[in-house]
Amino acid sequence: MWQTEPADSTLTCPFCGLACDDLRVATDGVDRPTLVNGCATAQQAFSTALAQAPGSPQIAGRPVALDAAITRAADLLAAAHAPLFGGLVADVNGMRAIMDLADHQGALLDHVGGDALFRNLLVLQDSGWMTATLTEVRNRADLILLLGNQCTHRFPRLIERVLLPTDALFSPPGQRSLVLLGGWDQESLPAALAAANPTLIPVANADLAGVCGLLRGLIAGRPVRTNAIPGVSGLQLEDLAGRLRTARYTVVIWAAAELDFPHAELTIQGFVELVRDLNRTTRAAALPLAGTLGDVTVNQVCTWQTG
Ligand code: SF4
Repeated sequence: MWQTEPADSTLTCPFCGLACDDLRVATDGVDRPTLVNGCATAQQAFSTALAQAPGSPQIAGRPVALDAAITRAADLLAAAHAPLFGGLVADVNGMRAIMDLADHQGALLDHVGGDALFRNLLVLQDSGWMTATLTEVRNRADLILLLGNQCTHRFPRLIERVLLPTDALFSPPGQRSLVLLGGWDQESLPAALAAANPTLIPVANADLAGVCGLLRGLIAGRPVRTNAIPGVSGLQLEDLAGRLRTARYTVVIWAAAELDFPHAELTIQGFVELVRDLNRTTRAAALPLAGTLGDVTVNQVCTWQTG
C-alpha cells in the first residue's frame, strides 16, 4: 500500500483503534514516501512495518524458507487438539484471516492485551452497558468525564478527533465541558486539553470506584459523606454531580489498560452503572477503551464473526 497507493488517496490507520481515516502517503517520486496526518504512534508503526523484510520465518530458531515454515505450522496445527493463537496484533483484515483459520482448527484466541480487554468485557458480560461510538461522542457530548490520565497518550489523536474536534454536529466543541478525574495536575496537562480549561479532580485510580459511589449517591439525592476519600474535594464532587444531572449528553471515557489493579472491573462497573443512572433523566454513554495494539479492533472482529 505504501508503495503503490496514489498520492492523493487516504488510509485508515489500524494501530490504536481510533481508526483515523485521514492519513495520506505523500510522495514526490524521488524521496521515500512520507505519512501525512499520522500521529507519532502511527509514524513509528508504519515505519517499523515497512522496514521489515517480507518475512523471516524460523523453525526452532533457525531461518527457513517460507514454504517449509508453512508446512511445519500446518503439521503442528493438524496434530493439535486445542491450539492457542496468541499475540494477534492485527488489523481487521488480518484478524479476519486469523479467525478463519481458528474456526477451521477449533483454536482459542488470546490477544496480547487481553488482560485490559477483559476488564471491560467482564462488565459487558455481567451487566451489559450503554456505550457510544466515537462519532457519537464527537458530535453529541456536552460533558466528558475522562478517567485516569493515559487515554490521551494511548490514543494520541483522541483530543483532536473526538474530545475537542474543530466542529461537531450537535454539540459545539467550544461549549463542551471536560472533567479529568485522575492523576492530573496543571503541569502534566497536554496543551490541547489545557486550552479547553477542564476541571481537574485529582484522584488515584484505585479511588475511582469510591468517587463513583459518592457521585451516584449525590445524583440519587441520598445523604453522602462527600469528604470520605482523603485528598478528594467534597465540594468538587458535589459540583460534578450537579453538572452530571443537568448535562444533555455525558460521556465517560477510560482506557482499561491503565486501571491495572485487583478487581478493576468493579471500578468500571461502577461507572457503567453511573451512566445507567443518568439515563433515567437525561442522556449519557460510556466509551470504554482498552490498551491498543489493535485490541479493540480484534475484539470487534471476534464479535462480528462469532457473536
Ligand atoms: S491516533 Fe491511533 S488511529 Fe489515529 S493515527 Fe494515531 S495510532 Fe493511528
